[in-house]
Amino acid sequence: MSAPEHQHSPSAAIAGAAPAASALRAPVTAVWGVGEERAKLLARLNIFIVEDLLLHRPRRYEDRRKFLAIRELRLKEAATVRGKIIAAGVKRFRKGTRSLFECIFDDGTAHLYCRWWQAQAWMPDWFTVGREFLIYGKPDALKPRTITHPETELVEPGDDEFIHVNRIVPIHPLTEGLTARVMRTLVWRALEKFVAAPRQSAANFPEWRFFDERIAARPRGTPTLPSRAEAVYQIHFPGEQPDVEEARQRLALDEFVEMQTQIQLRRKKFEAAAKALPCAGDNHLLKPFLAALGFKLTDAQTKVLREIRADLGGAHPMRRLLQGDVGSGKTAVAACAALMTLESGFNAALMAPTEILAEQHFRNFSKWLQPLGVRVEMQTGTRKTSNIQPSTPNIQPSTPNIQHPTSNIQPSGNDASRITHHASPATLYVGTHALLNSGFDLPSLGLVIIDEQHKFGVAQRETLVRKGNYPHLLVMTATPIPRTLGLTLYGDLDVSVMDESPAGRGEIKTFLRTTETLPKVFAFIRDRLSQGRQAYVVYPRVEVADTDLDIKAVTKEFENVQRALSPFKAGLLHGRVRPADQERVMADFRANKIQALVATSLIEVGVDVPNASVMLIENAEHFGLAQLHQLRGRIGRPLPSGPGATGRAHESFCILISNAQNEEAQARLKILERTNDGFKIAEADLKLRGPGELLGQQQSGAMKLRFGDLVEDLHLIQQAKEVAARNLQSPV
Ligand code: ADP
Ligand code: MG
Repeated sequence: MSAPEHQHSPSAAIAGAAPAASALRAPVTAVWGVGEERAKLLARLNIFIVEDLLLHRPRRYEDRRKFLAIRELRLKEAATVRGKIIAAGVKRFRKGTRSLFECIFDDGTAHLYCRWWQAQAWMPDWFTVGREFLIYGKPDALKPRTITHPETELVEPGDDEFIHVNRIVPIHPLTEGLTARVMRTLVWRALEKFVAAPRQSAANFPEWRFFDERIAARPRGTPTLPSRAEAVYQIHFPGEQPDVEEARQRLALDEFVEMQTQIQLRRKKFEAAAKALPCAGDNHLLKPFLAALGFKLTDAQTKVLREIRADLGGAHPMRRLLQGDVGSGKTAVAACAALMTLESGFNAALMAPTEILAEQHFRNFSKWLQPLGVRVEMQTGTRKTSNIQPSTPNIQPSTPNIQHPTSNIQPSGNDASRITHHASPATLYVGTHALLNSGFDLPSLGLVIIDEQHKFGVAQRETLVRKGNYPHLLVMTATPIPRTLGLTLYGDLDVSVMDESPAGRGEIKTFLRTTETLPKVFAFIRDRLSQGRQAYVVYPRVEVADTDLDIKAVTKEFENVQRALSPFKAGLLHGRVRPADQERVMADFRANKIQALVATSLIEVGVDVPNASVMLIENAEHFGLAQLHQLRGRIGRPLPSGPGATGRAHESFCILISNAQNEEAQARLKILERTNDGFKIAEADLKLRGPGELLGQQQSGAMKLRFGDLVEDLHLIQQAKEVAARNLQSPV
């Protein structure tokens, strides 16, 4: 069996790795006792090469230096005991096919009954009277002492018995046909052969060059990080319990170094290949735009725009992530960035995750930019529209941009692009992912803006970027990215944070309630509607699923909501409503022809109707925290300010409905009652549900870490970033 291409090996990142490192990449059959058959079993555990075996992380450890006496076992408390079989047999039950295999163990202090439902054919031959076993499990009764489905391990006198008893031993993840004992033996042999004498020399398990005292140093009072060779030994055979965590940290650090190296290499390659189009602009559009905007930019917006302008005028294309809580005013920043680009004579494109949001952006940008004579075009899956052709194209390339230094990477056609470039004014394209597939080729695409980045995968982002000649890239997200993820998943982007919201943004009061209170809640909503406000009612599903009748679906509940809110009007919105109808419903809602929007999380991103001040979310436990926060960001939005208008938001209420019984779900939702701080919420979400939930599955797939923890290991990730940078700066 050949070892498949193996990309996530930390040793790949080890600059100047010693030749011995290649031994670790030998097929696992290089370990004594692994033949074709066992190699197949190991492959099921993704163990192909020696290094995989060495990094096969134990799922738990047993301290076998001192066993509990069977007599000392306590109810429901996991423990390991050691005993000889004094009786064993199969019990069959008359009804059905159920059978029970039972063994009685004795250690001289008491008897222990171990039982397995569904006796397997091999059991009677394995558990024979007189054999001695180690038994691990939680007693489910004490009279007599009983453990159901314990983990067991045969005690076999032999040369290598010291691996299995009288020490802290690893229990590895297993697969059928491989026992804990065999696995432990194989790992031991691999350690002996390939990591030999780890405490004296690391000859066979090379260190990377920049592992020095500074990196090894831990917070005061804790021991320094072990060498890589020591760590790989300790993760399997720790001297004491705390060794395990030290070893884990060391091996996690290596994973992060590998990851950071890849990120930094990608960025270096990108910078070497890509020269930036000069898109910083000259203010001739920006000035009148800001003057007509009706509000003053916040300090946060101004700060970010300064960063963006520096990037747009820089030598390498911008790769920037703009992170700002819902309502912080990212759209205005996007507009300014687009204008800088358009001023410079290049086109810009803005991609939004839903048609509704694309539509809304199109409307806003047309309204804002039309008076300036800028052409805005929309492309979604169902529509292609453009605002009026500007009668007097007043876009003059501010710099003779022909000079842009991309000629070395640009194929022919550059000349053609110059010509079209002069012939027609620069355009802002707005759309959904349809922009990706549309035939439009944008030789003079200067800037790509992606709104609500977390809804797109990295691949989609790259596709749009590749449409042009390395345009600048600005991705925007309202999901605050905890720093660990900022350094890993988004490590190839520069990050700008907008930590301030426009003054008009209102506080949202959030309440967690159960379904029993729904009549009251609807009465409350009716009350708000009669004061002239509007409301959202959100459900997790479009349709009821047979498998989960407890989760409410928007199509089924729509009529109930209509009835509950009558005489006010309600509209229905979800992903399976035809786009044209979606648009009509949104238009009606904006115009207050309907007062309640009954919807799925489709409205999660971007929708901006300031008159809507109440949101009801049913089955709230079925949403992620970050998503709920994003959803409720639809309310508490500032009103347009102007003569006679304050620009402040209406008093806003978000009511979460959940009957979830389990404490964890309740505690999770209560976080939203307590805080409006998106960053705290995102961190909590990350801790509770892991990165997949926070970022969407497509982005978390890349994060296969054996030892690293994207929630807890910020310190290690920061160190890894440094190490990777030093390694890359001075390659061997
Ligand atoms: P998000 O960051 O969630 O995309 P938006 O860009 O939709 O937020 O902005 C939310 C609202 O705040 C919009 O109505 C927008 O016009 C308004 N807004 C943006 N910037 C300011 C500002 N500096 N002062 C007042 N209102 C602003
Ligand atoms: Mg937005």
